[in-house]
Amino acid sequence: MKFFTSRLCVFTCVVIFFFSYVCTFAQSLKPYPVGELKLAIKKLHVLGSVLYVAAHPDDENTAMLAYLAKERLVRTSYLSVTRGDGGQNLIGTEQAELMGLIRTQELLQARRIDGAEQYFTRANDFGFSKSTEEALKIWDKDKVLSDVVWMIRSLKPDVIITRFPPTSAAGHGHHSASAVLAEEAFTAAADPKRYPEQLKYVQPWQARRIVWNSFNPGFTNAPPAGSNYIAVPLGTYNPLLGKSYTEIAGESRSMHKSQGFGSARNRGQRDEYLQHTAGDKATKDLMDGVDVSWNRIKNGAVVGTLLEKAYQEFSPENPSASIPVLLEAYQAIEKLPAQEYYVQLKKKELTEVIAACAGLWYEANAGTYAGTPGAPIKITASVVKRSDFPVKWESVRQLPMAKDSLIGKALANNVPLNVPYSLVLPKDLAYTQPYWLAEAHSKGMYTVHNPLLIGKPENTPQLMTSFRFQIGSTTFDLAVPVHYKWIDPIEGEQYRMFEVRPVVMATLDEKVLMFASSEAKTISVVLKNGSMASKGEAKLEVPAGWSISPSSIPFVFTQPEEEKKVFFQVTPPAKPSEATLRAVVQLADGRKLSQGLLTIHYNHIPYQTLFAEPIAQVVRLDIKTHGKNIAYVMGAGDDVPAALRQMGYQVTILTENDLNANVSEWQKYEAVVLGVRVFNTEERMRFYQPKLMQYVENGGVVVAQYNNNRGLVTEQIGPYPFEISRDRVTVEEAPVTFLKEQHPLLNTPNKITAKDFEGWIQERGLYFAQKWDSHYESLLSAADPGESRQDGGLIVANYGKGRFIYTGFAFFRQLPAGVPGSYRLFANLLTPPGVKQ
Ligand SMILES: [Zn+2]
Repeated sequence: MKFFTSRLCVFTCVVIFFFSYVCTFAQSLKPYPVGELKLAIKKLHVLGSVLYVAAHPDDENTAMLAYLAKERLVRTSYLSVTRGDGGQNLIGTEQAELMGLIRTQELLQARRIDGAEQYFTRANDFGFSKSTEEALKIWDKDKVLSDVVWMIRSLKPDVIITRFPPTSAAGHGHHSASAVLAEEAFTAAADPKRYPEQLKYVQPWQARRIVWNSFNPGFTNAPPAGSNYIAVPLGTYNPLLGKSYTEIAGESRSMHKSQGFGSARNRGQRDEYLQHTAGDKATKDLMDGVDVSWNRIKNGAVVGTLLEKAYQEFSPENPSASIPVLLEAYQAIEKLPAQEYYVQLKKKELTEVIAACAGLWYEANAGTYAGTPGAPIKITASVVKRSDFPVKWESVRQLPMAKDSLIGKALANNVPLNVPYSLVLPKDLAYTQPYWLAEAHSKGMYTVHNPLLIGKPENTPQLMTSFRFQIGSTTFDLAVPVHYKWIDPIEGEQYRMFEVRPVVMATLDEKVLMFASSEAKTISVVLKNGSMASKGEAKLEVPAGWSISPSSIPFVFTQPEEEKKVFFQVTPPAKPSEATLRAVVQLADGRKLSQGLLTIHYNHIPYQTLFAEPIAQVVRLDIKTHGKNIAYVMGAGDDVPAALRQMGYQVTILTENDLNANVSEWQKYEAVVLGVRVFNTEERMRFYQPKLMQYVENGGVVVAQYNNNRGLVTEQIGPYPFEISRDRVTVEEAPVTFLKEQHPLLNTPNKITAKDFEGWIQERGLYFAQKWDSHYESLLSAADPGESRQDGGLIVANYGKGRFIYTGFAFFRQLPAGVPGSYRLFANLLTPPGVKQ
C-alpha cells in the first residue's frame, strides 16, 4: 500500500467538499431493506422541497414530516429556530446550553426515523416568552431572520409550512415569532437586496406558497372554519415500510425523551389541514402548480424516464439487477449543469442508492475513540460487497490530511476487506465540540463566525474517510466520518464519533463555590491525560483578595486516559465578593492549556463531548444560616441539594424507606425541602403529604418548590388549600415588591432587600400559586412588564408549631448558578418559626 497526495483532488473550499462527496453523518451506515430501497429509487424522480418552521425541538408535527419525506418523497426539512435550551430536563440535571445540546441530538434521532432533515438558527432558547416582541428583541431579529432567509435560499423549498400562527394563539412568544420570521423570510429570501452578503454562496429564492399547519384547541381533527385550506391524509399506510406515517410519527416523537414525550404509534385515518398564508394559493394539494418531475430541469426528462424504468423493474430478490439502468441515469445526470440544485441533490441520493443496490457496506474505524492534534492515529477502512455486481475498490482517502491509499482490488461477493493504515493528525486540528458552544454567547444569540456553519445541526466531522469505488465503468466517492466501534456486553455493537481533544484536560468538580464564612474550602480538579504521555503542573487562577494553596501541583502521566484528582484550598476575602476561578495546566514543554472535559451520554443519542473552560464562580456571601440538618425529597431532578451543602447544611436525600418511617424520625431535620415537581413525578407523594403536614404540625418546616398544575398526584399540597396557576414571571429583572416587609421570612436571619433580587437568571419563577386559603400570607409580588402582578410566588402558612411554604420562585435555577440573593432568601425559608435574629 502506498500513500500519496493526489493533485487532482486537492480541496479548495468547504463548499466543494460538500458537493464532491456523498457523506453520511449517522452513527453507522444506514442499512437499506428492500422496501426502503425501492422507496429511495422512487424518491429519485421527485424534485421537490418543503420546509417546516417552528420554534423548538418537539414543536414539529412528526406525522407531517414523515408523510412529506416518505409518501410525497420531497426533500423535507425542519427548521427549529432554537435548540430548546430553556426546556425542563426529565432525564437528568443538564440545563441551558447542555439541554440544547441533548435536544439537538434528540431531533437528529427523530429525523433518522421520520426521514426529514434538521436545521437550526443561531437563536438561543432563553426561556419562556409571553410575546413575539419580547422574543424578537432578545433574539436580535435581524440575525435570526437572516438565518431563516439563508435556510430558504439553501433548501429552495416549494412550500413553507409554519407550525404556529403569528398571533398570541400560538401560546408562547417563541412560537408566534417563528411564524412571523417564516412569513417575513418567505418574501425576503427572494429579494436580492436583503442579506446580499449571502449571495456569494446562495441565490435568492421565492417559495411558491407559505401555509400554516393549523390546529384546533386540543389538537383535534376537525377541519378549520372557512374554505381557505387543503387536507393532508397523514394516516396513510405505506406497505413498503409496513407502517403508516402516524406510526412513524410516534416513534420519531418518542425520541424527545428529555421532554417526556413518549408517544403512541397511532393507526388509522387522520387528516390535518394546511391553511393558506401567502403566495400562490393551493386548491387541491400542497404542491399545486409545482412540477416535481425531472421536467423541472432543462433536458432532465431523459433522467426521469430511466429512473422510472429502474423503479418499475426493481427486483426485491436482486437489487443489483437495477444497477445498469441506475448507472445510465447517473451518466445522464452528469450531462446536466453541475451547479443545479436538484442535480447535486439527486446525484448524491443516486450514488447512495447504487451503493445500496450493490450491497456495499463501508466504514472507517479508529483504534481509539480520541486523539490529540499532531498525534499518530491508526484507522481501519473496511468494505464488504453483498452482490455479484462487479465493483472495484480503487482507493481510500483520509481527510483532512488528503492522504490516499491505493487498493485496486475487485471485491468478491460477501468477502470483507479490511485495510489498516497509520497517519498523524494535523497539528492545527480543532477540538471536537459543538461549534455554537465554542464561544461565549449573549442571552438571545449564539456566536458563529463562519457563515457556512449557520443552520447546521452539528459539526461537520473532522476526520472523514472517502472510499473510491468503480461500479460498472463509473467512479464514485463515498465518505463516512471516522468512528470508534466497540461491543458492549449489554448494549451490543456501539459507535461513537472519533474526537480530537486536548493533551491534558482539567475539570473542576464544582461550578459554583459559595462561602458562608471566611473559612477555606477545598476544591478538586480532575486531570485527565488525553495524549500518550504528558507532564506539567496544575494551577488555579483567582483575582486579588482570594488565595489558593498550594500554588501548583505537579503531575506525570505515562498512559492515555490516566487520571489524577488534585485538591486546592480556596480562602475567600473577609467581605462579600464574587469572582471567577480558573483551572490551568502548564505543560513541561511550555504550552498552557485550560479546557475541561464534559461527556454527555444517554442511550438514545450519540456521545456528546465538550471541552468547556474549567471555570467556577466563587462567592463570599453575606449570609447567616440557622440549623444544620435538612432533608430533601427529589422530584423531577434539580441541583438544589448541592447548593444547600455549599451553605453549610447537612443534606439528607430521603429514600422511600425514610419516607415510610415514622414522622418522629423526621423531627431531627430543621426543614424538609421538596424538589421541583415532586407532586407530578412521585406517585407516592399522596401518601407522604399527610405525614409531611404532621411533621409541620410538630414544629418542622416544609418548603415546596414549584409543581405543574397538570397531573398532580394529590388534591392538596399544603395544610390548607391553594391552587397552582400556569402564571410565570419570565423577565429575570422584573421588579419584586415586598408585601409583608416585617415578616420573619424576609428578615430572619437575613434582612432581604431589593439587592437580593439582582443577577437572577432566565426567569423569576413559574407555576405561581393562585387562590389560596386565608391562612396563607403572600410575601412577595412580581410582574412582567405591562402585565398584572403575580402575588403567588411565595406563600406561607404557620401550622401547628411549624411552617409550610410554597414557592414558584425559580430557586432551582438561581442556586446552582450562584446568585447570592437566592441563597440569602432560601436560608430564611429553612429557618423555623420562633428563631430570633
Ligand atoms: Zn415550543
